Amino acid sequence: MTLAIAAADLQAIRAAAEAAYPDECCGLLMGRNGPDAWMVEELIACANVAIEPARRFEVDPKALIAAHRAAREAGRELIGPYHSHPDGRARPSDHDRARAAEAGAEGEVWLIVPATAAGPGAPRAYLFEAGNFREIPIAARARGRGGGRSRAPKK
Ligand SMILES: [Zn+2]
Repeated sequence: MTLAIAAADLQAIRAAAEAAYPDECCGLLMGRNGPDAWMVEELIACANVAIEPARRFEVDPKALIAAHRAAREAGRELIGPYHSHPDGRARPSDHDRARAAEAGAEGEVWLIVPATAAGPGAPRAYLFEAGNFREIPIAARARGRGGGRSRAPKK
């Protein structure tokens, strides 16, 4: 399993991590599941509504519902969330693992980007499977039809 994502989308996530620093940024990866890769076709940037946004992320529930609806209409699926780790490492925290288990995130891919005051680092992708995250490779995806765009969720 690979996460195929356009370089421009990765760059947009890095920019969001930088803009949100020292808080965590968050958003959703939308796309399609191929035979051996999740293909990211769209990013949905979301407000981080966590009480402690410097240490946690919580996608605005309204944005999550809107994303699910828009995905159904577009024949896409929710791949999983992306978020940043300010002054942290690009790997899931114990809290992330607990949250994923609680939310029934089985099969989701989480993208994590580290960020410091000096700027964002390299994102890494993790598949949540059998109650645990395992890192999967990120592959560059050519911008296809409808791919690589970023927009606000529909009302
Ligand atoms: Zn995290």
